Amino acid sequence: MTFYLKQMELGPMQNFVYLIGCPTKKEAAVVDPGWDAGKMLAEAERDGMKITSILISHAHFDHVNVLHELLAETDAKVYLQKEEVPFLKVPKMNLQPTLSGDKVRVGDIEIECIHTPGHTPGSQCFHVDGRLISGDTLFINACGRTDLPGGDSEQMYYSLTQRLARLPDETLLYPGHNYADRPTSTLKEERQSNPFLLHPSLESFLMMIRGF
Ligand SMILES: [Zn+2]
Repeated sequence: MTFYLKQMELGPMQNFVYLIGCPTKKEAAVVDPGWDAGKMLAEAERDGMKITSILISHAHFDHVNVLHELLAETDAKVYLQKEEVPFLKVPKMNLQPTLSGDKVRVGDIEIECIHTPGHTPGSQCFHVDGRLISGDTLFINACGRTDLPGGDSEQMYYSLTQRLARLPDETLLYPGHNYADRPTSTLKEERQSNPFLLHPSLESFLMMIRGF
């Protein structure tokens, strides 16, 4: 095994929290620490993994609300896209602001941060080992809402159609919520059937999002 991944559905909002890491060095990152820090810590401990990093897709409370609890138990560094830092409403400890293309090293693996604004100004996805952990940017058969504060439908269109377009079809998709009938997908399947990825132009994408 060259890669460690655990997908956990936690909390009342169908959030997916991930543990990803390096089985050789036994180091792991938590992605989006919303809800039940005890469960994340227990799973990591059971698998013999040390939590050295915390990756945040965006600062909505359901993705960060137990960040302080994890930081009380670990000395993990916290990676959040630079544009998202002002929106983080929990104590800004151990913070390492990221830019698009930055790589976070966890043991022997490298995780690429891809800035994908739209759901929030500083939303980011994490690309590692042929997988995309997509936060609230890309869901199975949907994309994140753009009508919340800081949301921007035009930026969402370019994130979906340009920033994520270079990733290969076989990339496995791991979204930030369990909103579909299955927990994972591939970019190929999404490119074929996700209605938000089928628009030939920004104008038709905006018409669908706005409903007129
Ligand atoms: Zn969100």
